[in-house]
Amino acid sequence: MSDRDPRDVIKPRIRALKAYTLAPRTAPVKVNQNENPWDLPPALKEEVLERARAQPWSRYPAFIPADLCESLAGFAGWRADGILAGNGSNELIQVAFGCVVEAGVKVVLPEPTFTLYRQMVTVFGGDVIGVPMREDLSFDVDAMLAAAQAPDVKMIVVCSPNNPTGAGLDAVAVSRLLTAFDGLVVVDEAYHEFSGWSAVTLLPKHRNLVVLRTFSKAMGLAGVRFGCLLADPDLVTELDKARLPYNVGRLTQAAVQVAIEHYDDVLKPRIDRLVRFRDALTVRIGAIDGFDPVPTSANFFLVRSRWSPTDVCEAMYERGVLIRNVSAYPMLGEYFRVNVGTEDENEAVVSALTAIAQERT
Ligand code: PMP
Repeated sequence: MSDRDPRDVIKPRIRALKAYTLAPRTAPVKVNQNENPWDLPPALKEEVLERARAQPWSRYPAFIPADLCESLAGFAGWRADGILAGNGSNELIQVAFGCVVEAGVKVVLPEPTFTLYRQMVTVFGGDVIGVPMREDLSFDVDAMLAAAQAPDVKMIVVCSPNNPTGAGLDAVAVSRLLTAFDGLVVVDEAYHEFSGWSAVTLLPKHRNLVVLRTFSKAMGLAGVRFGCLLADPDLVTELDKARLPYNVGRLTQAAVQVAIEHYDDVLKPRIDRLVRFRDALTVRIGAIDGFDPVPTSANFFLVRSRWSPTDVCEAMYERGVLIRNVSAYPMLGEYFRVNVGTEDENEAVVSALTAIAQERT
């Protein structure tokens, strides 16, 4: 038996990384993961189960879920052969980055942003060129384009609206990135439904655009795990080589189909409600002395805090409200993040923050 530590064979870059994870905390009011507060209605769950029951569970699903891609095409407004289905958009981040990033490759990331991007670039052996957001936490498109001039930059990744800042990009800004940079521009639209704009409209004109979507947020299916990637069909053919076979099971496909079919009558009205709640909630939190919400186009927002965000998050947790401490992110030393919940949850957030501010002044 060898004394060698088997971890010696793990790549040093991976040994140096910390896992992407979150403390396994829960609370009566959970507004820390930007989830949809409303579960799929029981009647729709029944419909999913009925369809799932009719499937042969002992048989693999198709290599390419053609029916699902057709539904997604109609739903998203893009061609079915330009769509890659994934077990959450996280998987498609891994697939796309795995096809592009290797030692020597650089990726431009505005920061702060979703931490998984940097994690995946590092796992695949590449390097990040981080571009700070502007002081008001909006995107600095000029600085991103300047950074992309460096040698060996193959990809710019933007999240719009951005997690965790809530700032979005518009058609003009994304078009600028797509025309001035000839590598891939990945636009992660995990929260686009709350913003009213999508980069999908730019796909017909730009072969270097990759759009990522998820069913975990506005679509309310975080527990089901589904996301999709939209891009030029030739590019999708290449990216598909890094996807594992049968990555989206029959049960998930049934749930996604039902969600798409009930977008107009069930999901869209909920999104509209969340947007109204968000606007009301930011106004109410802004009225508490000591807390300053950052304008957002997502279902979450940052709050600048007069007191240590770590202390505020702990005090909220003690009051049964789980929010997200983002103070370790670049530029966000004074901030925490809250997502919009039900009316009762939002009420609980406001009263807990009010009590915490009063205790400290
Ligand atoms: N992109 C962003 C910006 C996110 O915030 C998240 C979820 N936190 C994801 C992707 C991953 O979503 P999914 O559940 O589809 O893997």
